[in-house]
Amino acid sequence: MLNLTSVPGLTEDTSNWWIRMADFEGWWSWGFFCFWAFVFGGCMGSFLNVCVLRIPRGESLLTAPSHCPVCGTNIRWYDNLPILGYLNLRGRCRACHTRIHPRYLIMEVVCALLFTAILMKAGWSGQPAAVLLLYYPMASLAVTTFLIDLRWRIIPDATTWPAMAVGLLFATVFPAANGMTEWYASGLYALISLVIVGGGLALFAIIGRLLARQEVFGWGDVKFMMAAAALLGLPGALFTLFAGSLAGSAYGIALACRRSGRRRSLHIPFGPFLAVSALLWIFAGEKLLRLYLSLLPDPGAGM
Ligand SMILES: [Zn+2]
Repeated sequence: MLNLTSVPGLTEDTSNWWIRMADFEGWWSWGFFCFWAFVFGGCMGSFLNVCVLRIPRGESLLTAPSHCPVCGTNIRWYDNLPILGYLNLRGRCRACHTRIHPRYLIMEVVCALLFTAILMKAGWSGQPAAVLLLYYPMASLAVTTFLIDLRWRIIPDATTWPAMAVGLLFATVFPAANGMTEWYASGLYALISLVIVGGGLALFAIIGRLLARQEVFGWGDVKFMMAAAALLGLPGALFTLFAGSLAGSAYGIALACRRSGRRRSLHIPFGPFLAVSALLWIFAGEKLLRLYLSLLPDPGAGM
């Protein structure tokens, strides 16, 4: 039986400073951590709004300051505050009073809640606080991939390459995130996970294209999975791939049955399914893995 305490990132460590602090100060310190996770999540949601808007159009994230898409007026810093800015303006541009789409507010609220929920999950299950340094970039990549792939049918390099770099860097600099103590062991683990997943899926994509004569697994999906491997490790990446494929296939079959006779070929973006599966791993990966292993026949049972 696989010992789950040896799975990096899932290692329980009750000597965490934040667990001790939560024990010591009770709900007040949890409130403090959750507050800042909420604020940080809101800020990331605000930044990811810009990413989702500009990256697929090939626009720069850095050069142009935030501006109203209708009248072009630059947005003041206090109107740009996540959630509060939108509420203060009552959803309208300060200059031209054009309605601002509520999806900007929704994105900020969703990211704020998501980041808070990830903090609470990691804290309650006794994971090292450093794991957030891998979970938060993964969650950010998942949110942008979900929205961009759904609308544009692409997973841009501008999101996957930085996520891979962040995964390798943080795994190396903060080995505790992978439940390790040596920087080179943790960095190597992230790198090997990335290479195995990237190599395997690249091979699958090439063979699939040769056999099916159409794209079965896009390069954007391959790069998303490589980033997931660097950020979640090999078990997390394999879970994401397995759960995402299962959900994507089920959806594809259901869609094909409904549309039978009308259109033979239908293209389903795979990214959203992978994105949701990666989030599922963060929240319930350990439980689902335990459940799956308990269903397998025990090799030692007949002895
Ligand atoms: Zn305006």
